[in-house]
Amino acid sequence: MAAIKFDFTSCYEYYDSQFEYEDFVPERESTFLSETCEDILRVIFKNTCAEKVSKTKVVQFPDPVKLLTTIRKGVSKTLPVTPKFIIFNKSIMAKHPNIELNTTSIFKSKSDMTKTLNTEKACREHLEKLRWDGKPICPHCGSQRENHYKINTRGEFRGRYKCKDCRLPFSVTVGTIFEKSQIPLQKWFEAIFYFVLGKKGVSSVELHRAIGVTQKSAWFMLSRIRNSVGNRMDFEFDDITQVDETYVGGKNKNRSKHKKVANTQGRSGETKTVVFGMLSQGLVHTKVIKNAEKDTLQPIIKSKVKKGSVLVSDGWSGYSGLNRDYDHKIIKHSHGIFKKGPYHTNGIEGFWSLLKRGIIGVYHYVSPKHLYLYCDEFSYRYNIRKLSLGEQFNLTLINSDERLTYRDLISDW
Ligand SMILES: [Zn+2]
Repeated sequence: MAAIKFDFTSCYEYYDSQFEYEDFVPERESTFLSETCEDILRVIFKNTCAEKVSKTKVVQFPDPVKLLTTIRKGVSKTLPVTPKFIIFNKSIMAKHPNIELNTTSIFKSKSDMTKTLNTEKACREHLEKLRWDGKPICPHCGSQRENHYKINTRGEFRGRYKCKDCRLPFSVTVGTIFEKSQIPLQKWFEAIFYFVLGKKGVSSVELHRAIGVTQKSAWFMLSRIRNSVGNRMDFEFDDITQVDETYVGGKNKNRSKHKKVANTQGRSGETKTVVFGMLSQGLVHTKVIKNAEKDTLQPIIKSKVKKGSVLVSDGWSGYSGLNRDYDHKIIKHSHGIFKKGPYHTNGIEGFWSLLKRGIIGVYHYVSPKHLYLYCDEFSYRYNIRKLSLGEQFNLTLINSDERLTYRDLISDW
């Protein structure tokens, strides 16, 4: 008696053949795979096997427990939405050769973009080319294939796919800031253009007027864009690195000038929020910190700056002792010295002034809890400043993964 070995693919193929894509309900199918898969599998087993029985007479069931474990593993696997990530400028892109901004059009201006991407379909296809480069990537299991199933909705393909491996439905917006948004992609794309365009950013009031959405929607869009472009740095600073901290907000606005005074008065994080920054080769990295003490500052430096490289800071005591691991150049601002040969901290200080002018001028007030999002936004814009506007736009679309939920964003506001 010949036994049929259970073949999971054929089981699914059977399931597919029974399934009308027209009535595709993604939620229901996700549930099918994760929660009730045992029951459904039993049905599929029965049907598949019944079919095969007529042809080959005998059926051998596989070990259902083993099988279910395999499926569950496949479903719960969480992989990044896209293998494209972290790109700041051309030198960083050179370190990540898989990142390309020109898999599709690079627009010269906003009107150039709105003229070309004038339908939802055009926007979606632009996003697909950037994030997938012709080969859809399943956000559930990470499988990248040209031939994932295309799902038609009312006889028309609208960008929905079904994974050939894990069988879950997806589209290019799953896991991005555009997912489940009622706002059309065209508006989102315009918002992203405004976001990268202004050196100091764009406020929700300005955006609401510019693209014709409510101010609440504009605020929500900006929060999500800001959240997606956040700290994507995964590289190490290995050239001359400037380090510095600054104080944002609080009542004693004008006290920031005194921060260079050796006593801790002006450096106290009690009324202001402390932001620490590092800058090297035109790239900046910031972090909101609880205080500017040695124990806070030095672990961050050690985790991001290559041992043995040149580190430049002012005379703040929080940086003392770094000469054990670095070629540490101290510029004593309190002595009126601002430059020692090629060593200075002008780059990072220029960035601070940009950040502060932006926060005061455009956003007026930023709560300490959300300050890091604004620091990330300014760092991002600063780090991509050498790219053309169209490249910045495409890059931001590639990086449009969602990192925080809406609930996370609005809590505490
Ligand atoms: Zn998949």
